[in-house]
Amino acid sequence: MERIGVEAEREFLFTEEVDENCGVFGLWSARSVAEEIYYGIFKLQHRGQRYCGISTWNNGLCLVTHPGFVRHAFSPDELRSLKGCLGIGHVSLKERQPMVFYSHLGPYALAFSGNIANSEELRKQLFRDGHAFVTQTDTEILGRFLSQGKTILEGLKQIYKVVRGSFSLVVLTREGIYAARDVHGFKPLVLGRSGKRTAVASESRPFDFLGLKIVRDVKPGEIVLLDNGGFKSMLEIKGGQPAFCAFEWGYIASVDSIIDGIPVIRARQNFGMKLAQRDTTEKLKADIVSPVPFSGIGCALGYHHYSGIPYQESFLIDRFASRSYTPLLQEEREKEAKIKLSVIKDNVRGKKIVLCDDSIVRGTQIRNKVMELKRAGAKAVHVRIACPPLIAPCRYSISTRTYDELVALKYSLEGICRLIGADSLKYNTLDDFVDAIGLPATKLCLSCWTGKYL
Ligand code: SF4
Repeated sequence: MERIGVEAEREFLFTEEVDENCGVFGLWSARSVAEEIYYGIFKLQHRGQRYCGISTWNNGLCLVTHPGFVRHAFSPDELRSLKGCLGIGHVSLKERQPMVFYSHLGPYALAFSGNIANSEELRKQLFRDGHAFVTQTDTEILGRFLSQGKTILEGLKQIYKVVRGSFSLVVLTREGIYAARDVHGFKPLVLGRSGKRTAVASESRPFDFLGLKIVRDVKPGEIVLLDNGGFKSMLEIKGGQPAFCAFEWGYIASVDSIIDGIPVIRARQNFGMKLAQRDTTEKLKADIVSPVPFSGIGCALGYHHYSGIPYQESFLIDRFASRSYTPLLQEEREKEAKIKLSVIKDNVRGKKIVLCDDSIVRGTQIRNKVMELKRAGAKAVHVRIACPPLIAPCRYSISTRTYDELVALKYSLEGICRLIGADSLKYNTLDDFVDAIGLPATKLCLSCWTGKYL
C-alpha cells in the first residue's frame, strides 16, 4: 500500500527564486528507521530550516513533509506512520523534499542538496518533450530525467549527462537507497555504518549521534547503492575535476563534522592560527580574542592557541534564535542577527578585542557587531576573517549573493575597515585559507574568492 502523508500547505509548492542550501540523509537498517532518520535530519538542521521531510519504504512509499524545524514539525503519530526499514530524509531552505514519483521504474522518492545551474534550460527541454510540472522545483526536474532511464541507474546516468551545477542526491526505491554525487563533488556526501545499519548523509555529524562510523565519502561522480546492510559502488562517472566546496569548511558545515576526510574544526582552527601568525609578526596587542558565534568560534580558538591571547566570549547566543543566514530577506537577516547575539558588557568594557568571524558578504552584520562592542565600552576591535574577501556569487550551491551585494567588490580593505568601524581588518589570504583546509587547491571549489568558474 502506498500512503502519502501531510501535504497541506500547497502554497509552498510555488516559491520565488530563493537561496538554496540543504541536507540529505538515508538509512537502511534491519529495524524500523523513521526515528533514526528523524534524528539524522535533526542533526543536519543547520543546513536548512524552512522545510523538512521523511520518506520510508514499506511495500510502497510513505511520505511526510512539513514547513519549519524538524523538532517542531513531526508528531509522534507521523513518525509511527512512517513504517519500513529503509528511508531518506531532508532539510531545506528552498523546497519540500523528498518528492515522490510514480513511473515505469516503480515508485521512488528523491531528495537532493545542491543547485541546478541550468534548471531553466532543462525545464524548457522537458516542456518541449511534452512533460507538465506540478511544482517549480529543481527536484521535479531531477525526478523527470531519472524516470527517462530504463532502470534507476540508467536514469541517474541521464541526470549526470544533462545537469550542470551541484548535486548530492538520494533516491529511495524498493531495491534500496541510491546515493549519487555530482562529478565535481561540490556538495559533501558521506557513508556510515554500524552492524546492519548503513547510512548516507550530507555531513558525518548525525553518525556520531546514531552510533555509526564513517566508512568513506561518496566519490565525485560515484553512484552507491545501500541495501541489505551494505554498500555497492554501482558506477563512477569520470571526467570531472574535483571541486569540493571550500565554503563548507569556512561556514556551512557543523564544526563536529568531517568533510572529505578533513575535520571542520581542524580547518577552522587553522584559519585562526594563520591570522594569528600574521598578527604576531606585526606585534598586534590585544586583551582578548572573541568569536562572532557560531561560525567564528573555531577561528577564534585557533587564534587564541597560536597567539596565547585569552579566549573570552563577547557575545551571548540566544539559544532560541535561528542561524543568521537562514532568513531570506536582508532585513529579516539583520533583525535575526541582532536578536541572536547580545553583548556581555563586563567582558568587553575597556578591552582591546580581536573579533573573529567566518566571512564578510555585505558588511552590515559585522559592522553592527563592532558597533555593539564599542557601545559596550571596547577600547579597540580588530576584525579577523577566516575566508578571503568574497568577490563572486556561487553558481553551484548556495546562491546567497549577487555581485551587487559583495562589499569586497566596492571597497578596498581600508574602505571596508572604515565602513565596519573596526580598528583594523584582516582576511586570510587565499593561499593561507587553502593551506588551512589541508587539501590541494586543485581539489577545491574556490570560485567565491577567485571569480573563476569551472
Ligand atoms: S562558489 Fe563558493 S559556495 Fe559555491 S561551491 Fe564554490 S566555494 Fe562553495
